[in-house]
Amino acid sequence: MQGKDLLQLAEQFGTPIYVYDAEKIQSQYNRLTKAFSKVDKLRINYAMKALSNVAILKLLKEMGSGLDTVSIQEVLLGLHAGYEPDKIFYTPNGVSLEEIEEVAAMGVQINIDNLSILEQFGTKYPNVPVCIRINPHVMAGGNANISVGHIDSKFGISVHQLPHLVRIVENTHMNIVGIHMHTGSDILDIEVFLYAAEILFDAARNFKNLEFLDFGSGFKVPYKKDDIETDIEELGKKLSKRFNSFCAEYGKDLTLIFEPGKFLVSEAGFFLAKVNVVKQTTSTVFAGIDSGFNHLIRPMFYGSQHYIENISHPKGKERFYSVVGYICETDTFANNRKIAEIKEGDILCFRNAGAYCFSMSSNYNSRYKPAEVLWIHGEGHLIRAHETFEDLLRNQIPLPETVATV
Ligand SMILES: *Cc1c(COP(=O)(O)O)cnc(C)c1O
Repeated sequence: MQGKDLLQLAEQFGTPIYVYDAEKIQSQYNRLTKAFSKVDKLRINYAMKALSNVAILKLLKEMGSGLDTVSIQEVLLGLHAGYEPDKIFYTPNGVSLEEIEEVAAMGVQINIDNLSILEQFGTKYPNVPVCIRINPHVMAGGNANISVGHIDSKFGISVHQLPHLVRIVENTHMNIVGIHMHTGSDILDIEVFLYAAEILFDAARNFKNLEFLDFGSGFKVPYKKDDIETDIEELGKKLSKRFNSFCAEYGKDLTLIFEPGKFLVSEAGFFLAKVNVVKQTTSTVFAGIDSGFNHLIRPMFYGSQHYIENISHPKGKERFYSVVGYICETDTFANNRKIAEIKEGDILCFRNAGAYCFSMSSNYNSRYKPAEVLWIHGEGHLIRAHETFEDLLRNQIPLPETVATV
């Protein structure tokens, strides 16, 4: 996608707006499957919490992707998008037994991540195929908030609890068909990932009826120029070889599963916002846009650095700006960032706005959520309308007039 296409979409649909490039999602999907082409049975389950618009779900379904979900509502959205239940994985954390039962009854593959629920579920439904989420306690994340493998993490069943886990499985005669791990976002070191994989193989040797091993995700994508990213091709080469030798040892061709979110959709996304005001203070030049952390919270929540470009005047002389939002709280998108000279009314484009951007947006300050556009075959299609005042009032119930409020 080019700057002029984005500018035209901002004009056509208004700002603030998210734009997703279908071709980029496709090329990332193909890149991942190609890297693991030596594995006989490979499955990609798109982690839909990254971006859950139904049009995106359908696009990935067409490519052959399955889904990774974390809530029953995500499961319902997946089914609505046309995914067969057996193409959906459900990997929740801290949800009720009732919700897990409900999802299992739909024929979705459930993944259990604690011993208490495992024992209860196994006792009630020994025949339902279950996957187990292991925590290998390998630190792979770049940020404590997104690293889920550490010892104090609430995710997964600790590998150190394997003896207890095996006992529960034996006592209940439950049907364990898969082992899963997801060590968190931002894998930079492939060796660390391979080390965690060995722990998964070790755990897998305890179960005789496995059908798949799920290695989760955590692939890092570049956020700025010269940023490091997970070397998918190298990981593909090394892990495929190791996986195939494990299958030979296990005596069965298992399915290798990944569940990427960010890798598939991050770079496909662009967030477009208009500059409302350029404000010079004693120390800083602020560019204030028609958005805030209600629409894009990653910079404030995780300290993420989204590359920002002035697509209205890309060739202008570069100056230093702090790009801020209109929320009545400090909401800084970027500090002292070199951007082509900004005039009021210019459109700024934020890169890597596909993953965890719209899906984490809110109505804070009673602002409307942005619209979403899918760019496909050289054309932009609105896939979510801008919100309206009715959306703010939906589900609000006025008190009956008979209730005295003073
Ligand atoms: C969020 C999540 C993912 C996706 O992680 P990315 O870093 O976006 O690839 C995969 N698996 C599980 C269980 C998750 O919770």
